[in-house]
Amino acid sequence: MNSKAIILTGDRPTGPLHLGHYAGSLRQRVALQHHYQQFVLVADLQGLTDNGSNPQKIRDNIPEVLADYLAAGIDPSLTTICLQSALPALAELTALYMNIVTVARVERNPTVKNEIAQKGFTRSLPVGFLVYPISQAADITAFKANQVPVGDDQLPMIEQTNEIVRKMNSLMPEPVLHHCNAMLSETSRLPGLDGNAKMSKSLGNTLLLSASEETIHRAVNAMYTDANHLKATDPGQIDGNRVFTYLDAFHANKAKVAEMKAHYLRGGLGDRTCKNELEICLQELIAPMRERRATYIQDKGALIALLKKGSERAHNVTQKTLREVKEGLGLPVF
Ligand code: ATP
Ligand code: MG
Repeated sequence: MNSKAIILTGDRPTGPLHLGHYAGSLRQRVALQHHYQQFVLVADLQGLTDNGSNPQKIRDNIPEVLADYLAAGIDPSLTTICLQSALPALAELTALYMNIVTVARVERNPTVKNEIAQKGFTRSLPVGFLVYPISQAADITAFKANQVPVGDDQLPMIEQTNEIVRKMNSLMPEPVLHHCNAMLSETSRLPGLDGNAKMSKSLGNTLLLSASEETIHRAVNAMYTDANHLKATDPGQIDGNRVFTYLDAFHANKAKVAEMKAHYLRGGLGDRTCKNELEICLQELIAPMRERRATYIQDKGALIALLKKGSERAHNVTQKTLREVKEGLGLPVF
């Protein structure tokens, strides 16, 4: 990655952040902010695409997500944290891009298709929801981001963004928009506690970054292992064994996890021991975040003030891109 890389990522303020966010994207953002120019977008407009009748949910979760960012180690002096609805250039770019994307193309987007089925939208599908990949392309391109640290559910969005970049650039005398690249973490899709393939706020199968000690204990206790591993002395299965998936994602000592896996496979390692190891690791990971978060969330005014400051900075960046696109298209710019 070149040293001039610009990074844009974001989250929908539809609930507090969870371990899936941490493993899929947040952990990378904390590391990347020291080396690259990073923007993090609180995607409230995108949150509204399937919560249009419940704006309070989105409003209430904005400070929750901000507190999670700070607790996880996002430093607002290194990362520009901004609010989607405070950046009108994003909506204007969306309006321009909507004209070069067909309905068939958005309907073919596998993530959107899957989410439509999951949410039970049929004729009730909001127009805004169907076109959210286009607005996400506007978000990424407005910042001229070339690196996007995301979970693998976002790969179709990146592909679609690059199609839009290609098409838009072909309409302008000079290319204005930048192609982008998804940066996948080692855990690009953390499964949910319930066995679903993805931990997700919408599915209610999450372990929050603010989870209490007791909640973590109960979650680990209830986790599925290998249903056929009845006695500790039996050989066990690793594939699909949630406890090992989570150990892989969060345990700092990879050699120890490898050793545990080998032991489990050949027999002699009990589920209880594995769960204890996982619980210790999750308690140690979450406790400091939970404590920091509890302090940040007490001053919601300060959280919103830092969002305002970041949004002002982001406004200048995104307006500049919008202006270049309008000029590139030959539209009058006043
Ligand atoms: P919602 O259900 O409201 O869509 P979500 O839990 O999917 O919420 P988002 O705000 O849509 O969270 O996702 C924000 C970022 O976190 C995206 O980059 C997404 O890929 C990543 N992410 C979310 N869940 C996971 C997961 N289980 N594993 C890896 N990455 C994830
Ligand atoms: Mg999502």
